[in-house]
Amino acid sequence: MKNTFLKIFLSSIALAIILFPSISISAAMITDLRFWSAPDHTRVVLDLTEPIQCESSFQEKPPQLHLELKGASLTTPKREVEVNDPFLTKISLIDLGKEKIKLVLHQKKTLNTNIYSLKPYLNKPHRLVIDLIDLAQEKKEQEERQKQKEVRPKGTKIVVVDPGHGGEDPGAVGPKKTMEKDIVLKVGEKVTHLLNQNKEIQAFLTRKGDYFIPLEERIKIAREYGADLFVSLHTDGSFNPQTRGSSVYCLSLSGATDEAARILADKENMSNVLGGAFLTPASIVKDPNLNQILLDLMQNNSMKESLRFAEYLLEDIKVLNQLKYRSYRQANFIVLKAPDIPSVLMEMAFITNREDERLLNQNEFQEKMAKSLITSIKKYFKP
Ligand SMILES: [Zn+2]
Repeated sequence: MKNTFLKIFLSSIALAIILFPSISISAAMITDLRFWSAPDHTRVVLDLTEPIQCESSFQEKPPQLHLELKGASLTTPKREVEVNDPFLTKISLIDLGKEKIKLVLHQKKTLNTNIYSLKPYLNKPHRLVIDLIDLAQEKKEQEERQKQKEVRPKGTKIVVVDPGHGGEDPGAVGPKKTMEKDIVLKVGEKVTHLLNQNKEIQAFLTRKGDYFIPLEERIKIAREYGADLFVSLHTDGSFNPQTRGSSVYCLSLSGATDEAARILADKENMSNVLGGAFLTPASIVKDPNLNQILLDLMQNNSMKESLRFAEYLLEDIKVLNQLKYRSYRQANFIVLKAPDIPSVLMEMAFITNREDERLLNQNEFQEKMAKSLITSIKKYFKP
């Protein structure tokens, strides 16, 4: 009796394995490997078909981070990727057999490591992210920003221009695959370059290359510079390829002005999920060192000033491009939440419209866009 039971039991296991062979060979496929170089860190990203388990170890000489990925197989043809940025020389993927893959990060020096996974979102699959951070460099960058505040000549105004998205987060993508992150960086560079030819204004960028900065971090950077004005640059995207026009947005403390503005804010706020934000820095609004009454006063004043600047932006941009809305809209944009810095977000044009995409790619149009922004910035400081 016992024996028969055991036989049935065993045969049903065998059947289960035959019927569901994927149970024993459900290896996650590594489908791609990328890296992004920032001034203080390098981000390495693996695309996966499923979440994965990994074990990390560090080798001192030469400095290498080893990651053993279990239950994994390689489908990307990339095995050795040259990096040569300030922190890494190359990345290797080695197939150890038995569904084990070894990832080796060949470092130029000892670095801090953050390893985390990101869930699929939009067209992004499961991702394993490895951030290699140079803490000394991070501190140096921060001190250099803070120094700008101290050394600026009296009466000089500081503008921080924020090219949206970057790195893992491309932003909206045009029919010809033009990426929002690239266009906004180009326009941002032009704006800061032209503004810096002016003695009374100093301009800085939140990001200087193709890497991602969490939204809260962008505010922190602006505050370290001691910004008098913050402008976040974007290009809009729509499922309707006919949609065109520029639009301007400010923060709302009491809900969005309309449904379209709310949806746009949600979309822009998802940047942290796409770009990969490991730690969300403590909310600036909840800083215990700031008095709440004082904070409300600052926020009210910043709001008023943001709306005033938004009016100038609309006035000047309409000469260059049609407007999507004739007035500014308001919603809960994370990147506009600095209580003490007037902050505005601008969608320059629709990258998903063929004609706008063509224009956005033109150096001449980018320059005109930058000059239009500068006209508004100058009006803001000297109304
Ligand atoms: Zn955007």
